[in-house]
Order: sequence, then structure tokens, then C-alpha cells
Amino acid sequence: MAIATINPATGETLKTFEPLNDAEIAAKLDLALQAFEEYRQTSFSKRSHALQKAADILEQEKAEFAKVMTLEMGKPFKAAIAEVEKCAAVCRYYAENAPSFLADVAVKTDASHSFVRYQPLGAILAVMPWNFPFWQVFRFAAPALMAGNVGLLKHASNVPQCALAIEDIIQRAGFPKGTFQTLLIGAAKVADLMADERVKAATLTGSEPAGASLAAAAGKQIKKTVLELGGSDPFIVLASADLETAVVTATTARMLNNGQSCIAAKRFIVAEAIADKFEKLLLEKFEALKIGDPMQLDTDLGPLATPGILQDLNQQVQAAIDSGGKVLTGGHPLSDRSGNFYPPTIIKDIPHDSSIAKEEFFGPVALLFRVPNIDAAIKLANDTPFGLGASAWTTNEQERDRLVEEIEAGAVFINGMVKSDPRLPFGGTKRSGYGRELSIQGIHEFVNVKTVWVK
Ligand code: NAP
Repeated sequence: MAIATINPATGETLKTFEPLNDAEIAAKLDLALQAFEEYRQTSFSKRSHALQKAADILEQEKAEFAKVMTLEMGKPFKAAIAEVEKCAAVCRYYAENAPSFLADVAVKTDASHSFVRYQPLGAILAVMPWNFPFWQVFRFAAPALMAGNVGLLKHASNVPQCALAIEDIIQRAGFPKGTFQTLLIGAAKVADLMADERVKAATLTGSEPAGASLAAAAGKQIKKTVLELGGSDPFIVLASADLETAVVTATTARMLNNGQSCIAAKRFIVAEAIADKFEKLLLEKFEALKIGDPMQLDTDLGPLATPGILQDLNQQVQAAIDSGGKVLTGGHPLSDRSGNFYPPTIIKDIPHDSSIAKEEFFGPVALLFRVPNIDAAIKLANDTPFGLGASAWTTNEQERDRLVEEIEAGAVFINGMVKSDPRLPFGGTKRSGYGRELSIQGIHEFVNVKTVWVK
């Protein structure tokens, strides 16, 4: 895949970039190594100060950064602004909390003095996706830098200007040269990086094949990885739910980021007793959405990020129809305009046990299922290889407890939409990956947990 900015709303190639050659990559790895030796000695207060400054820059220049995101991957501009603000918030969160998360922890043993100390590992490679091109990177970078690690970013090939802007922000914030570098390289170079002894660990957010390939390369070298992969999150609505709120939230949860979010609600599992009403209201909401230029503030749904994503999504929709699914709205790419536009789509009556029902649909397509009771809802919710998040709606306490206990996912949100929050751990089970980002758990992923015992 060429490294280039191609406007998804028009298909126009705006800028192309030459990937780094092997000598340039080696020079950046050397710089990372040198930077780490000094940076690991810096105090928390210095690191916090720089991270607060990064937050200031993000807030002050949010419109420019948001514009770059929208131009490169097509998310609505207002969502891009919110994303930059969230990046500032995660910087502030770790600037304030990392010192306590990483403080020595005393443990009483047979020693006169024993404790746990958290120490940085070195250069951590972050292989990142285009869908939240700033947020995904900052939620890695903020804890990694506070822990004293240095970062190497291999961003998705369609968001090079975002990747360069992030490197620039971190440098301008006052982090020493080399503590965070963007590597403009293709995916084929990642395995070599994992084999290089200057790279100590890696995190990847993206698809299952990319995660499996990175983990295999890391496994050969006994290096730690964190994987944040795909999801086919259920959105369960039981009979006692507040239906109006559930439908509004269902629409937002499916359409977030033009439908291209790992934690978007993808399978809507609705109790038979309220299914007709839910279907009617959801259809109204989907048909009322405004599709168009993502730079316009009143646009709800912009284009998909690449023509390949549009093609894959459309093939999945056709497979769902072939399996018996009925399209209530949408179902074909919008052919009246250039760009990668796909309309809000609802498909019902897909057989529960069909293979297509278990797949991740990465775009504005809702799969609607009916179930007789909570047992069937939980069974269907879990009947997927993924386990990222789940949103479930009920006002019944016993049902709530069962949903929390029995759903196989990294997160369960009751009467709300699945979202990431710096204060809460984020990550999946099953084929959605392993490890956690954010909160105290996130900052502990890339440290040496050293046991100290003194007599
Ligand atoms: P992708 O193709 O896997 O790309 C993600 C990143 O991995 C890019 O930087 C890509 O580089 C790189 N990559 C691709 N193949 C690779 C390989 N074999 N080895 C090493 N690196 C490789 O993902 P996508 O399809 O663009 O993104 C959508 C997926 O990401 C969805 O499944 C979504 O659910 C998931 N996602 C998960 C989370 C989460 O937190 N769990 C968050 C967001 C997205 P190139 O661009 O150069 O190919």
C-alpha cells in the first residue's frame, strides 16, 4: 500500500510520501536507543510537564489537526475535533496519575524491606490504524512516555500527515529528540523491526491478520505484545429497556466514525416483545442521517476511509443477503457521487448460525436479530470469535447481573454505549486481542515489574 494522503470524499490523491529506506530506519532506531538511555533518567515531573504541554498544543491547534484527520480518512470534522480534545485529556490524565501508578509498592515478606518497582523497557513499536488516527496513538504514547519508554510509530499508510503531525506535537511539547519518532514505512517492514534488538516490545491496533503476524514475529524474539483487534459488538435490548433512549444510542453507536470503530455496536439483538417497535424507530433514525462532505458541521456520515473498505463492506452485505437477510434500508454504495460513500444500512433475518452473522462489518451497517429471551440473547451475543465490548439494555436487576457475568467481552456497558475512557481499562478477549490500554492497567503493560528483596 502506497504511503499517501487520498481524500476519501473525492478520491483525489493529495500527497504521496517516499517510505524510509533501510539506512534511514537504522538511523532512527539508533536515535531511539540513545534517547532512551537519557530519557529513562528524567524525573516524572519533567515528563508530566512535557505531556501537559502536548495537551496544550492539542487544544490550541485542534482545528488544524482535525482537518488533517478528516482530509486523510474522512471522519466528520466535528468528531475529529472531539478526538483531538480526547487526546489532550489522556495526556493530562497520565501526566497527573502516572507518578502514583508507577510508584514503588511495598510488600511485607520475610525480607527487612521488599517492594515492587516499575521500570521502562526501551523503544516500543506502535503499529496503529487509521480509524482514530490521533486517539489510538496518544492512548499509547501518553502512558509509554510517562513510564520512561521511547516510542516508534508505524502508522497506517493512509494517514501519513497525521503521523508526522503527532511526532511534531510531541517534539514541540519538549520531549527530548528521539523519544517519539514516526517511521513512514509499509507493513512489510514490521517483522524486521520486531527482529531488531533495539525494539523491545510492540502494540498493534488493527485487524486480526495484522495482529497475528506481529505477534508471530514478536514471539520468535520473546518480546511482549499488546493487541487491540476487531470486534463484532452486540447491542442487546431486552423488553424492560428504555426503548427511545436505546434506539438513539443504537444509532450513534453504529454510526460512530462513519461506522468504522472497533467498539461500534454491530449486531443488534432485540427481545421479540419489542422488536417491531425497535425496528421501526431504528429505521427512522437511520433514514434521517445526513450523508455528505465530512468537513460540513451538519454531516452525520462521511465516506469510508478507502475504496477497499467500501468494496469489502459491500461484499459482506451481499453475502448477508445471500444467506437470507432482508435489507430494510441502504444495501449498495452510493453511485451518484465520487468518494467512498456507503449509506446507513439495516439487514434483518440473517440466520443466527450463518458465518456472515459472526463477522465484523466495518461501516454503517446494522445487523438486526430477534430473540425470545435473555438466554437466547446472551447465547447469540457470545456466538462470535470476537470479544471486545457489549452494550446491553434492561431495567431488571437480575438480567443486568447475568449480562455482566455471562457476556464474553473486555467490557460490558449497561444502558449506555461502549466507549473508551482514560480512567477505565480498554481491550478485548478471544480474537479481539489481549492486554489492556488506558487506566493503571494500560501503563503497566510496557514496564519491567521488578521485585526487590533486601535483608
Ligand atoms: P489493518 O489493515 O490491520 O491496519 C492496522 C495497522 O497494521 C496499519 O498500520 C497497517 O499498516 C498495519 N499492518 C497491516 N498488516 C500488517 C502486517 N501483516 N504486519 C504488521 N502490520 C500490519 O487494520 P485496518 O483494517 O486498517 O483497521 C481496521 C481494524 O482495526 C478493524 O478490525 C478494527 O476493529 C480494528 N481496530 C481495533 C481497535 C481496538 O482498540 N481493538 C481500534 C481500532 C481499530 P498499513 O496501513 O501500511 O497496511
